[in-house]
Amino acid sequence: MTDASFGAGTADGPAEGKDAIVVGAGIVGICCALALQDKGFAVRLIDRDAPATGASAGNAGIISPWSCVPQSMPGLWRQVPKWLLDPEGPVKLRWSYLRRLTPWLVAFLRSGRPERLPAIADAMFALNQPSLELYRSLLKGTGGENLVRDSYYIHLYRRAEDARLSDLSWRMRLERGSTLERVTGEELREIEPAVSPDYGAAILIKQQGRASDPGAIGRVLAREVERRGGIFLRGEVRALRPDGHGGAVVDSDAGALTASKIVIAAGAWSARLLAPLGLKVPLESERGYHLVFANPGVALSNTLSETDKKFAINPMDMGIRLAGTAEFAGLDAPPNYRRAEVFKRLARRVLPGINTQETSAWMGQRPSMPDSLPCLGPLPGLPNILAAFGHAHLGLTGAPMTGRIVAGLAAGAPPNIDLSAYRIERFL
Ligand SMILES: Cc1cc2nc3c(=O)[nH]c(=O)nc-3n(C[C@H](O)[C@H](O)[C@H](O)COP(=O)(O)OP(=O)(O)OC[C@H]3O[C@@H](n4cnc5c(N)ncnc54)[C@H](O)[C@@H]3O)c2cc1C
Repeated sequence: MTDASFGAGTADGPAEGKDAIVVGAGIVGICCALALQDKGFAVRLIDRDAPATGASAGNAGIISPWSCVPQSMPGLWRQVPKWLLDPEGPVKLRWSYLRRLTPWLVAFLRSGRPERLPAIADAMFALNQPSLELYRSLLKGTGGENLVRDSYYIHLYRRAEDARLSDLSWRMRLERGSTLERVTGEELREIEPAVSPDYGAAILIKQQGRASDPGAIGRVLAREVERRGGIFLRGEVRALRPDGHGGAVVDSDAGALTASKIVIAAGAWSARLLAPLGLKVPLESERGYHLVFANPGVALSNTLSETDKKFAINPMDMGIRLAGTAEFAGLDAPPNYRRAEVFKRLARRVLPGINTQETSAWMGQRPSMPDSLPCLGPLPGLPNILAAFGHAHLGLTGAPMTGRIVAGLAAGAPPNIDLSAYRIERFL
């Protein structure tokens, strides 16, 4: 079965040689496909849906080269009860899911120990730092150059005294070369006049990017994969296995497909493909929501982050998008769109003039590992099947460098950076 809108792919790839199948056509799979092509691989990309339709389309659109602060930080557990009890809070848990979540939660809190922080931060930074430059180079000549815009990432504080560059999370960015500026409420409103006067200060991260339509970036780059000879196949992947001759097989609706390398970029569903291989990875679905205000009546030039309720606001081609929430309920629970409706009140809190009449709600699944780092590289004992999943809150940002790393490993020429922090073995 092939997707007509993405060319007439066939399941028959090259009989042998340097070929790869990428499972999952989210932004990570698409960037892996492009990087594998750069390394001379013939590529087939398989997904049950059209390219970039899940998390890779609905995210907050922040391209964040300075992201090096993990989700689990020292002392975070003290905040969790307050967040859980707040109906507008950033974390939600379906209590019936708590028992299944507990091992992941324990690993998550353990990752936030102070002694773990520097290595995690360095590995996040290595993945995220080149993001803007790599997107610009991937989009060049595609007609989609304007989909990535220069931006500040403005962190809003209601109480001016809470905007402290001496706090750990800001020091971690400063130590890695980020240009930060603290501004007063008046200065903030000179930059973004639509923001409420209730915000007393802000911290700006400069040299950031924002996507004017994250799904369009994925679609443009997927077309680029095809333009370079890649084949997009539409189908559900049911199993992966070694072929006994040094390659690997993907069992799918599109047939049994053999290739010399297989890349698992199936986002939050990746663990389901690993379980039959005897590999149990702590990959959790961290569900998030967005609400788009199609006719907002106010304008923004930059990305905003509300530091109290922890959500992002981004001006996009389709309107102003509010996105956030970490909801733990598993991969199969139906969305609870009341979580997205909460963004109406939160939008008015930040942008008092916003028109909240025309909205559309969405839910997507972040693929989250406990230590905020993805799994990249060969599976233990299966060198021709490579992991490329687990990017959690930063998959849009980390996708282009992920492609480079995974394609380099597949070609036997990995980039010259320390890859040990991304090894899947760290949790096995
Ligand atoms: C609310 C929200 C806001 C976010 N904001 C940002 C942000 O501002 N910046 C940022 O960098 N990141 C952000 N993220 C995170 C980012 O969106 C994700 O990390 C990223 O999209 C993950 O990409 P992916 O390709 O790994 O997964 P996905 O986009 O989920 O793609 C995986 C693909 O695999 C396919 N698949 C899975 N299993 C199978 C199978 N068995 N057979 C066939 N196909 C299969 C799926 O159909 C899917 O298309 C946000 C996420 C959310 C939810």
